[in-house]
Amino acid sequence: MARYIFITGGVVSSLGKGLMAASLAALLQARGYKVRIRKFDPYLNVDPGTMSPYQHGEVYVTDDGAETDLDLGHYERFTGVSARQADNVTSGRIYQQIIARERRGDYLGATVQVVPHVTDAIKSFALADQSDHDFILCEFGGTVGDIEGLPFMEAIRQLRNELPRGDTLSVHVTLVPYIRAAGELKTKPTQHSVRELASLGIQPDVLLCRAEHPIPESDRRKIAQFCNVRAEAVIPALDAPSIYSVPLQYHAEGLDREVLRGFGITDAPEPDLARWYDVTDRYNHPEGEVTIGVVGKYVGLPDAYKSLNEALVHGGMAHRVKVNIRWLDAELFEEGSADIAARLEPMHGILVPGGFGERGSEGKIASVRFARERRVPFLGICLGMQMACIEAARAAGFPEASSTEFGPTREPVVGIITEWMSREGLQKRESEGDLGGTMRLGAYEAVLAGNSRAANVYDGADSISERHRHRYEVNSAYIDPLTKDGLIFSGMSPDGLLPEIVERPDHPWFIGVQFHPELKSKPFAPHPLFAGFIGAALEQARLV
Ligand code: GLN
Repeated sequence: MARYIFITGGVVSSLGKGLMAASLAALLQARGYKVRIRKFDPYLNVDPGTMSPYQHGEVYVTDDGAETDLDLGHYERFTGVSARQADNVTSGRIYQQIIARERRGDYLGATVQVVPHVTDAIKSFALADQSDHDFILCEFGGTVGDIEGLPFMEAIRQLRNELPRGDTLSVHVTLVPYIRAAGELKTKPTQHSVRELASLGIQPDVLLCRAEHPIPESDRRKIAQFCNVRAEAVIPALDAPSIYSVPLQYHAEGLDREVLRGFGITDAPEPDLARWYDVTDRYNHPEGEVTIGVVGKYVGLPDAYKSLNEALVHGGMAHRVKVNIRWLDAELFEEGSADIAARLEPMHGILVPGGFGERGSEGKIASVRFARERRVPFLGICLGMQMACIEAARAAGFPEASSTEFGPTREPVVGIITEWMSREGLQKRESEGDLGGTMRLGAYEAVLAGNSRAANVYDGADSISERHRHRYEVNSAYIDPLTKDGLIFSGMSPDGLLPEIVERPDHPWFIGVQFHPELKSKPFAPHPLFAGFIGAALEQARLV
């Protein structure tokens, strides 16, 4: 039976609970424990798949095809444990299941209620699939006191009663604000937040206090006393220079030690933190830098491209260089507006990321053209690969080349497919069907052409598995004319029907991929495509 760590947040949102959960899991893992992290989101969407990136940041896709909260990306990047559908649940999904059961008559005439039916569903989600894990960390979205979070808090209270004594622990993340006029840190918000949590029947065991300034010993004692927590279990969490130093920083403050002590474990092995020392050293002491232009749509909100941002940093770590990311609004590159060359010339690499919809697509195509003609290293991801194929088709004599995503076209170089093979067999969808959960999602295999740059990037592999999230595909009817014009289709689905990777052998480094490699990159195992891309950008930087 796994031990459970419940992580809640108080005072304000955006305290970095997800990062905290990921860091704590990484520390427990470094001590040899097997960990898994789960995220509970109180909102009513069934999953974040249909939410705008501006609302909720990136949608993180798992191998098993779930569209999940971006915190699962942190979990996977910090622990290397592949997240699954079973690791993220929302109120919407829970209500959807309960209402479906009610309609089927499964409740045998009973009145269906928040307690016990919703809370039971939350509990069984937390308890599912826990075999052979030492610790399951459950992070709860939102802030204590939110109306929509109440059933989750009640489920934690019940679980703490029902699971064996000593097998659960509550970690509460709060804010200790600094009031400049008074020159003091204030503990009152933390006290109120813990009181609110206690009023729901949950007494925290460990408090993680986010603060901009060191918390004096006297304040730590005060928090401990008023919040009924041991002083050593009040852990200061100061702002970190980078997210990758958070595990080391929390360890230095005693977070993992106090969590283990809370479970009565005092003889745990010391953590092996070598991997984290290496990662922070590479990040903190770069020996050069490159500038990458990312030509996208949601450039105003860094969270919209969270994994991409991290994967570029990992690519930099692989070469011990700092990666300066310039987020460029594709719409500015549309005809008649900003001078594309002037904006892209300073870039050592150009990346067109995934995206949806027509807005900015001509700007993305123009950026691909710039990268091809000026021989600047290029990586196109998902929509970025589709734009690279459209650009290639236009150059190859199909001036009307487009994607059916942008409306009817006579040259559908990118089109919707309604049938494809997955591990579960033939998948079908209607071209006008629901938007939620109907894309080609999750891990799919691709077969690589021997002697291609793609195979070389993947260390000579002849087959790879990467994660997908898209509705449209490059139309295989255009493979022949595009190949004649210099674009090589170096990765295909195993049945040979769906283009997965394109590249240009006559270009220093030009690759487009239909999948999302950024989702699988880790700081201690940078994704080969990002390591390769940054390596090529480094070459470019040496040239200019
Ligand atoms: N909009 C494109 C599609 O649905 C690309 C999606 C993406 O980039 N994730 O196929």
